[in-house]
Amino acid sequence: MDTAMNQFDIIVAGAGVGGISAALAAARLKQKVLLIEQADEVGGTGVFSSVSLICQFRDSNGRPINSGIHRELFPTAYTHYSEQLVPTYDEKQLKESYINLLGAEPCLTVWTGSRITQVEMHQNRIVQLHTSGKYTGIVSAKAYLDATADGNLSALAGLSYHLGRESDGKLQSATATFKVSGIDRMRLQQPDIRQWSAIHSLRKELLPYYESLKKEGATSNPRTGVTCFPYPDGEALLFNSTSVLDVDPTRPETVERGMEEGKKQAKELFEAICHHPAFRNARLDYVAPKLGVREGRRIIGEYELTADDCLGARTFEDMVAACAYSLDIHDPEGGKTRLEPIPSPGYYHIPYRSLIPKGATNLLLSSRCISGSHEAHSSYRIMASVSAIGEAAGTAAALFVFQGLEDVRQVNSAHIRFILQLRGQFVEGKVERLSLPTA
Ligand SMILES: Cc1cc2nc3c(=O)[nH]c(=O)nc-3n(C[C@H](O)[C@H](O)[C@H](O)COP(=O)(O)OP(=O)(O)OC[C@H]3O[C@@H](n4cnc5c(N)ncnc54)[C@H](O)[C@@H]3O)c2cc1C
Repeated sequence: MDTAMNQFDIIVAGAGVGGISAALAAARLKQKVLLIEQADEVGGTGVFSSVSLICQFRDSNGRPINSGIHRELFPTAYTHYSEQLVPTYDEKQLKESYINLLGAEPCLTVWTGSRITQVEMHQNRIVQLHTSGKYTGIVSAKAYLDATADGNLSALAGLSYHLGRESDGKLQSATATFKVSGIDRMRLQQPDIRQWSAIHSLRKELLPYYESLKKEGATSNPRTGVTCFPYPDGEALLFNSTSVLDVDPTRPETVERGMEEGKKQAKELFEAICHHPAFRNARLDYVAPKLGVREGRRIIGEYELTADDCLGARTFEDMVAACAYSLDIHDPEGGKTRLEPIPSPGYYHIPYRSLIPKGATNLLLSSRCISGSHEAHSSYRIMASVSAIGEAAGTAAALFVFQGLEDVRQVNSAHIRFILQLRGQFVEGKVERLSLPTA
């Protein structure tokens, strides 16, 4: 690779929802941005693990609290809102939206099929990265964003992290999701599966088939119920209903084993539900190509968000994002999921300090690897909040670069909020105006 091509203002590692939101935010502020993704295509978990549900992003009064880039990604969740309808998306459409939005930014370069393998640090500053794959070589930037979900970039930089729950290091269970079509909806008690009431009724209808599978000892799936969501077309279903334990993304062999186990559970469950009259001619379209791993490293930052912050609906002076989703812990031992909603007003703030890793001056966290406890992470890991975290991190990195600062800690959170607000994102607290770069 020639050297001029390898120098950027900002490098974003990982092209899931956090990395893409960060890259868009920074590129829209006229920074020269490189987004590096190890997979052959952009999208990350939300596309290749097919998660389907657009989780809670509204406060107790129905007001959106992640209305920035999240709105561009999931527009119908804003324009066709109804409490009766299950808000979902199609992963193929989401991938298209990502590609279109990224392609519209002239300051943005995307490298797929390229993995960051090494990070060179000098005096708490990342100097350059080594990549391998389609683009093998060395790249450098003024600021770096870790959007790898599992904190891979920060770990390569030698920074400290937590992994798993505090008591024993165990991580939330993983899931191989799968898509089922060809359902004869007229044979369901409630055929309009876009409605929450129909989905709850369907889950009850499918439960006896799953329970008899478990009774026969014909599945190792520890889940107690069947969870599925409708595709936006109201015809197909996405099952988020398998459960694999002891998957740790820092040990690739456990992810490989988990994928095999998840595929097996998916097939077992699919065959069981095919005994229901509405599913006699159903098709297992696919098992999502990537195992859905809920949890990885949580990088230790300047502030560690806790369950008390989430459940206390805490506000922070340096807020740069917000989260309205419950604590949602898929039991590492395979027991019942712990779901605890955020009390009124229905959301909490995410402070800028949680995006700043200790031990680095030109790196920000831009995905679910921000600084927080195992319990807090179970809440803000959803796509709405990760998109808001990414947008804030990308904005902060751009400010760091165009203000010529030495340390990301010097970025004024009131400036970040000013820009986020200009872009339509929800913010609270003081905002301070500044002129934005024009070229
Ligand atoms: C089974 C399951 C169900 C879920 N259900 C929902 C749901 O219904 N609704 C919801 O909103 N959220 C849901 N979530 C949570 C949500 O999907 C994820 O937490 C979120 O998408 C994570 O986004 P991210 O940007 O942090 O990471 P990811 O989307 O995982 O992106 C990280 C990217 O970094 C890349 N990467 C990693 N290391 C490197 C490297 N060294 N070099 C280059 N690239 C690298 C990876 O390939 C990946 O593409 C679910 C999660 C799971 C697992």
